[in-house]
Amino acid sequence: MKKLRLILGDQLNIKHSWFNRSEEGCIYVMMEIKDETSYVLHHIQKILAIFSAMRSFSEQLKENNFNVIYIKIDDKDNEHSFKKNIQKIINKFDINIFEYQQPDEYRLDSVFKKFKSLGIEVNSVSSEHFLTSRDSVKEFFKEKKQWRMEEFYRHMRKKYSILVGDEKPVGGKWNYDAENRKKWNGEPKTTIDFRPSHNHEGLLKAIDAEGIKYFGENQATNFRWPINRDESLTLLEQFIDKDLCNFGNFQDAMHDENWRLFHSFLSFSLNTKMLSPLEVINKAEEALYKNKLSLASVEGFIRQILGWREYIRGVYWTQMPGYENNNFFNHNKNIPDWYWTGQTKMRCLSKSISQSLENSYAHHIQRLMIIGNFSLLAGIDPKQIHHWYLGIYIDAFEWVELPNTLGMSQYADGGLLATKPYVSSAAYINKMGNYCSKCSYNYKEKIGDNACPFNSLYWNFFDRHQDKLSKNPRLGIVNSQLKKMDQNQKKEINKKANEHLDNIAFL
Ligand SMILES: Cc1cc2nc3c(=O)[nH]c(=O)nc-3n(C[C@H](O)[C@H](O)[C@H](O)COP(=O)(O)OP(=O)(O)OC[C@H]3O[C@@H](n4cnc5c(N)ncnc54)[C@H](O)[C@@H]3O)c2cc1C
Ligand code: SF4
Repeated sequence: MKKLRLILGDQLNIKHSWFNRSEEGCIYVMMEIKDETSYVLHHIQKILAIFSAMRSFSEQLKENNFNVIYIKIDDKDNEHSFKKNIQKIINKFDINIFEYQQPDEYRLDSVFKKFKSLGIEVNSVSSEHFLTSRDSVKEFFKEKKQWRMEEFYRHMRKKYSILVGDEKPVGGKWNYDAENRKKWNGEPKTTIDFRPSHNHEGLLKAIDAEGIKYFGENQATNFRWPINRDESLTLLEQFIDKDLCNFGNFQDAMHDENWRLFHSFLSFSLNTKMLSPLEVINKAEEALYKNKLSLASVEGFIRQILGWREYIRGVYWTQMPGYENNNFFNHNKNIPDWYWTGQTKMRCLSKSISQSLENSYAHHIQRLMIIGNFSLLAGIDPKQIHHWYLGIYIDAFEWVELPNTLGMSQYADGGLLATKPYVSSAAYINKMGNYCSKCSYNYKEKIGDNACPFNSLYWNFFDRHQDKLSKNPRLGIVNSQLKKMDQNQKKEINKKANEHLDNIAFL
């Protein structure tokens, strides 16, 4: 029996049971497909990272005596279609069985389900990466009206016995979120950027020669993302040793001269499955005791992976297809051009977007409370925002990006995922970062010539969506402040907000 097994660009899991031993007559295939780069406009670093990590994985398999066919982007006989490439190999090698690991994207899942028509036996297997099945979240919440991450997270802590003793949380509390909100003023000092460095000029040339469209800085001669398991493990160790101790305290902080602060940079390695979530969680838990770290830091980090990451994936699979079409507020403004250049006078946005264009990375609060916050306040079409996020970030794969962007950040699902819209005025941005002090706008003003756009847009957002938000129990304070607001003041604020919206291209 001859077997063909497909490995996707985000299935670089050397610990998968497929690789426990090499099977006679089994061929593995990996392919660089043009359409996989163009379903949205992508950051060049994301394309370089995925292709180079795939190439590195295929080399590792070959070194371990697996029989691998690797189809490069510029190979003459690359059909640039999964099915056509697979069919050719089936015919050439008289393959009897075709197998694939279940993809994490609905789009590819649907394409692969049609592989039944290949005319041979087709099997799909688990990717053996996640801690839950596709349906776990749906099962967990089946009797419940609201899908709250915290409940699911506690269940996961108990199920995997993470930071748990006798069914109770270590330290007495399940969640130390309240201790995750310190501003960073330069101390403690952050460590150097310890990511690896590569030269991907050759690959960039091949991508260019194939006419693939992209945006963002390529950094091909000094490419900084990990592209194999060894580099990912080193990154994990460095993070645990040097930065995890400060992760919790400064998780929500922002700083114009330090775009990483104490974040781990592990999302690309996790999402391409070079690292498993459980090994990352176990290492962090181990460090709590071994390195005597603060529980708030370790719990804050573990919550992101054991809680948010698995929960978000579950939401994705219960809501697809169609989740991408949600638009609770009927927002329909186009993305301003400066989302592609970073050229706006709003310093927090300029810094966060420029950094994303330069590094294909922004940390959680920049994504949520700067770029996402403005997009929601300004009423930009959530699908355009979704496509922008899916293209720009190194770790953006639809199963994790879509619920985070459309649900958590844009509230486009009407509150399935977030209990209230994540929006703020400039006060929060000034509290958590240092962008405001050198901004052309004044963070304290709502309506003056230099007033920060976030301020009037914030009140205008709640005012124009009262029909949808006035009964939200988590918005009691803001709704009552809006009710009590002097009518003339409200009029002035709305006037200023509309001025900003009319001039959004020049803000
Ligand atoms: C609008 C928006 C879009 C996002 N899009 C993506 C995306 O496309 N891909 C992605 O992996 N994450 C996404 N996130 C979540 C989070 O911002 C990134 O996981 C994180 O910034 C990656 O950097 P890091 O590895 O340094 O993370 P750290 O801050 O060090 O966190 C550790 C790990 O926790 C996990 N994690 C943290 N928050 C989340 C979350 N909300 N959902 C899922 N996993 C989480 C990630 O695996 C991350 O690597 C998004 C968040 C928002 C608000
Ligand atoms: S003043 Fe407003 S626009 Fe400027 S950095 Fe602060 S929040 Fe951003």
